[in-house]
Amino acid sequence: MGKLFLVSACLVGLNCKYNGGNNEHELIVGAFRRGCVVPVCPEQLGGLPTPRPPAKIKGRDGKSVLSGKGKVLTVDGSLTDVTENFLRGAYETLKVAEFLKGRLVACILKEKSPSCGVKKIYEFDTDSLKEGMGVASALLSEKGFKIISSEDTESIEKLLKGV
Ligand code: SF4
Repeated sequence: MGKLFLVSACLVGLNCKYNGGNNEHELIVGAFRRGCVVPVCPEQLGGLPTPRPPAKIKGRDGKSVLSGKGKVLTVDGSLTDVTENFLRGAYETLKVAEFLKGRLVACILKEKSPSCGVKKIYEFDTDSLKEGMGVASALLSEKGFKIISSEDTESIEKLLKGV
């Protein structure tokens, strides 16, 4: 049984991004072709449509959303509360990771996303970035899974080498 990686689905070219696009990443697509990658989109798993309004975390970060202190709101003017969808998506993603346990080496997640961000997420009120994880990344990390940022090319190259 070979090694497996859970990855943000947009990184393999699936059009699950809020605007209907993707974030294709050459190295991860290559690993997907070799059957080593399980793509997951927490926001779709949380019941949100594609395309969907962009959303941001109102509060510190994904950890604060998990603890009930933060919220996730759309930033399309309606400020719709989508916290429940983000939480549901994070727990469904955790379910996938738990299924793969034993073979799962790491989760490679899309940087800056309110679900998948690893080191950086957007400030709620501005377009600036701040330190923090998205909701799904925070949950996977809290449960002990190894999380790698989609921008950490060196680690991705090292991990995917030979798989
Ligand atoms: Fe990609 Fe994650 Fe956003 Fe889905 S939730 S589109 S997997 S960054």
